This record gives sequence, structure tokens and C-alpha cells, in this order.
Amino acid sequence: MLEQLGSHTYDLLIIGGGATGAGIALDASSRGLKTALVEKQDFAAGTSSRSTKLIHGGLRYLKQFEVTLVREVGRERAIVHRLAPHLVVSEKMLLPLIKGGTYGKMSTSLGLMVYDVLAGVEDADQRVMLSKKETLEREPILREDTLEGAGLYAEYRTDDARLTIEVIKTAVKYGADCINYTEGTDFMYEDIGEGKRKIVGLACKDCLTNKTFQIKAMQVVNAAGPWVDELRNKNQSLSEKRLHLTKGVHIVVPHARLPLSQSVYFDVPGGRMIFAIPRGKITYIGTTDTDYDGDKENPLTHLEDVEYLLKGVNSVFPSVRLLSEDVVSTWAGLRPLIHEEGKSASELSRKDEIFVSATGLVSIAGGKLTGYRKMAERTVDLVMKKLQRRQRKTRTHTIVLSGGEFGTHTAVDDYKAEVFETIKAQGFDAFEADYLVSNYGKQTDEVLESFFEGLEEGRAPQWAMLSAELDFTLHREMAHTPLDFFSRRTGRLYFDIQSVKQWQDQVLAEFITQFNWDEEKAQKERKRLERAIYEASHFS
Ligand code: FAD
Repeated sequence: MLEQLGSHTYDLLIIGGGATGAGIALDASSRGLKTALVEKQDFAAGTSSRSTKLIHGGLRYLKQFEVTLVREVGRERAIVHRLAPHLVVSEKMLLPLIKGGTYGKMSTSLGLMVYDVLAGVEDADQRVMLSKKETLEREPILREDTLEGAGLYAEYRTDDARLTIEVIKTAVKYGADCINYTEGTDFMYEDIGEGKRKIVGLACKDCLTNKTFQIKAMQVVNAAGPWVDELRNKNQSLSEKRLHLTKGVHIVVPHARLPLSQSVYFDVPGGRMIFAIPRGKITYIGTTDTDYDGDKENPLTHLEDVEYLLKGVNSVFPSVRLLSEDVVSTWAGLRPLIHEEGKSASELSRKDEIFVSATGLVSIAGGKLTGYRKMAERTVDLVMKKLQRRQRKTRTHTIVLSGGEFGTHTAVDDYKAEVFETIKAQGFDAFEADYLVSNYGKQTDEVLESFFEGLEEGRAPQWAMLSAELDFTLHREMAHTPLDFFSRRTGRLYFDIQSVKQWQDQVLAEFITQFNWDEEKAQKERKRLERAIYEASHFS
């Protein structure tokens, strides 16, 4: 792949393998552009593995009158659900109405109706208003004395990193060359007369070997999320419009400690709203929204973030009395928002914007995971124009993502039942079948094939399954380190940290064998994983 990248001239080179860059790679390659993508860390290692993992229209943006944004991302939900029905699952959201809360009964009813209309929600799925009694029947642990009822409306849940990786894999099917652990270090320019220059490529570093090489391209897109301004700075094109990074933290507790039957979006003291989202054997809670100017690669969770979220949960679910000891893991992400003078973190718009520099660098910033496809469409429309190519319209609304070849949504449940039947004799429960299908979709067939081979070779069922996943992610998804596997490929670091602690030595040993690592490299990766486990489960 590295040789290929160094020897071609691409129509389009994308910097950044988060959701934004991935979406652009798929849109461009499926419109026939010769496309490459470089990611300096692992795919999705930036913001795109650290979100609330909702494919949502952003109800609260309605309050800020961001009607166009709500309409666009609201409509996108159903499209992305269709393209990856195993990975983007519909999920009801409960919005409790609390005395003195953000939304009153009338405004909630009206707001949710407008939300449904803007997002084009089908009749059967449209919002329902619940009485206090009906609300408590659904969620008996809600605080009763201040509760006045609730709105119940449609949203979707996903795994952001897996979504990003499946979009990248689909782009690769359309001919894109996408590589992780490759950093764009500087732009290459060509003089075009009258003292003007134009970007004609990117100097790159292979971060695994430190070797440098160049990639030639007619057009370069900067989709570097929180790093967008670093690249604009290198390109000397930083303008008044610049990024404003805000940090958002999520905490994870065992489901038994916050036993919700559905996702809940609720008021917390201080006027903000947060989510509590049940997912298999855990419930996660988030998020915070605070200004940030620290290390972009490794934003950390602090005790004050955890205390803020715990206080919020305990005020609405007082009987659970969650303590910091209940928090089994956390993650922190950075929103790459566009600065607006005088506005606080929560007030900043989530709209995306495209900047074009004098030397031709196209930078895209802001936006939501949910809107990745439309952001890609706008970017590629512009790139086609700049390349003076015949405008072919985007086709991505019809391109099913890899693993998503189910046809109908009910087929996903049928397939889960089938997978459960196949593995239950080896001692697995329905959760495992659900996990496998939600993660890999139809590609679970390939994982199971390797699982049964592992059993034949005498592996114990649990290890045979984990090594089957490992095999799949090594050979089909460019996992390069144990952390890539435990975090971006399987979500275990956040949602099942115990299993990471249990299997870390065996997984590291597999990587050592696969990549023929020497002792020094093996120690480095061991320390990296141990640090990630520590940081996900400690805060100060
Ligand atoms: P990133 O995912 O950060 O990708 C940029 C990539 O560029 C990084 O991986 C980085 O390593 C790479 N890069 C940088 N510099 C270079 C270089 N020089 N060379 C090569 N690669 C480089 N949106 C939703 O729709 N739903 C939600 O529920 C939601 N919740 C959120 C909660 C939080 C706390 C946060 C922080 C965001 C949330 N968002 C949500 C927003 C969403 O996550 C982001 O809009 C989206 O993930 C941004 O993707 P991106 O590709 O632009 O950035």
C-alpha cells in the first residue's frame, strides 16, 4: 500500500481517517475519483471513537433555532440506518418532563412534533407524550416528586469507530487507498506564476517505521478534525474562522447499577441536558462540554467531569446513588467546533463549514458524526468542480456499508437468532450473538468460520472466539496494535474493560507473532495498552 501511495498521482488525497475523511473517501471513490486517505493514528482514533455514539438529529439544536441542521441530520438518520442496519439501530429516547426543567409539557410536545416533521419520521415512529404514571411504568427509578410526564421519540444508536471503519472498508472496495499510522507532515507546492503556488501533494511519514515518502495529488482535503487548524497553519491559511475545541466526557457503569430499559435524555442542575444510554451489560452517561486546549491525542477524564455527571444522574435517579467507585471506564473526546466570538462551549453551532485556501487546500470542520455523508457530498461536489470533472451526483445514499447487506431491518434480528443458535452449544449467551452481529454485521460469518477452525485446533471457546475476531480485524481491518483491537475494532476498552484485562497478554502475544515484534516493540505496545486501561478506569 505504501509503495502504491508513493507511485501514483491521485485525484484526491484526504488527510484524516475519522468519520469525515472516511465519508469523503467513499463519496469520492464511488464517483470515480482516484482517491487516497492517510490517518496518522489508527482509523477513528480521534473524535470519531469518542462521541455519544448516537445517530441523532440533535433535539437541543432546535432550541437554538438551527432548523437546517436538525432537518439535515434528522433525515440522515434513516439513511444511515438503511445502509448499516446492524450498526445503526433505532432506539427510543425518553425525555422526562421535570418541574422547572428545560422543556415544559406544551413546548416538548410541539418541539418533538417539529423534530419528527423536520426529520421526516414515519407515522408509526412519531413521538408519543406519556403521563407521569406511564413514564414511571417505563422507568420506575426516575425521581417521582418532580416528574410531570415524558416525551418518547425516535433516535438511533451506533458504534462511531466501527461505523467509520466500515465506511473506510467500503471506500476501499470502490478503489480508494486508505492507510492508518501515516502522518501528513507537510504540503508539496508547485509555482503557478504571478508569485502564486498550488498544492500538488503531501510529504508523509510512516509512523510505524519513521520512513518518509511523498504522495502526489491534484487536490488535497484536510479532514483532520481537532487538528484541522494545525494543517491550515502549515499551509499558512489560518484565518479569523478557527477551531474552538470543547471536551466531552462519558462514564460507564454496570447496567445493574443504572438499570434503564431505554435511553433517557434529562436535565441536570445548571441547565444542561445529558444522556444515559443502556448498552448490553453496561449503561453509559454523558456528556460534559468544556473548553479545551491540552493534548489533542489524549484528552483525559478528570474527577470533576465524573462528579458533574454523577451529580446529574443522581438528581434524576436518586435511588441508585451512583458513586465514583461504580464507574468502570470512561472516555473523553474533543469537538472540533468553529469559534464564534462571545459564545460558550454549549452555545457554539455544530454546523460544518468548508474553507478553501489560496493554494487550494480544502479544509472541512465542525459538523456531526450523523452528518458525515452530507458533509462528504458537499466536499466532493466542490472537489469535482475544482478538478473540472463532469459533475456526477453522489451515490452514497444507495451504497450499503460493508457488513450491512441485510435487505431489511428484521433480517438483522433473524440473523442474530441464527448466530446464537450456532454458538450456544459452546456456552455463549444471546449477548454474545448480539455483540458479534452489531459489530461485524454479515461479516460475522467469516468470524465464525475462523472460530470453528480455532475450536478444531483445540482452543477453548472464549479464546477461540476472541482470536477469531482478532484474525478478522488483523486481516480485514488493518488493526496494528492490541489497543486498535480492544478500542476501535471491538469497543471492549469502554464497554467490557474486564475482558481487556483478562485477555491482554494473549492478544499481545498474537500481535508479537503476527508482526514479528522484537522485545523492545512488544514492551512499548504492552505499556501503551496498560496506560490506556489505566486512563480509561482512573481519574483524578
Ligand atoms: P476525527 O474523528 O478527530 O478525525 C480526524 C483524524 O485526522 C484523526 O483521527 C487524526 O488522527 C487525523 N489527523 C490529524 N492530523 C493528521 C495528519 N497530519 N496526518 C494524518 N492524519 C491526521 N456526533 C453525532 O452525530 N452524534 C453524537 O452522539 C455525537 N456525540 C459527540 C460527543 C462528544 C463528546 C464529541 C466530542 C463529539 C460528538 N459528536 C457527535 C460529534 C462527532 O463525534 C464529530 O463531529 C466527528 O466524530 C468528527 O469526525 P472527524 O473525522 O471530523 O474528526
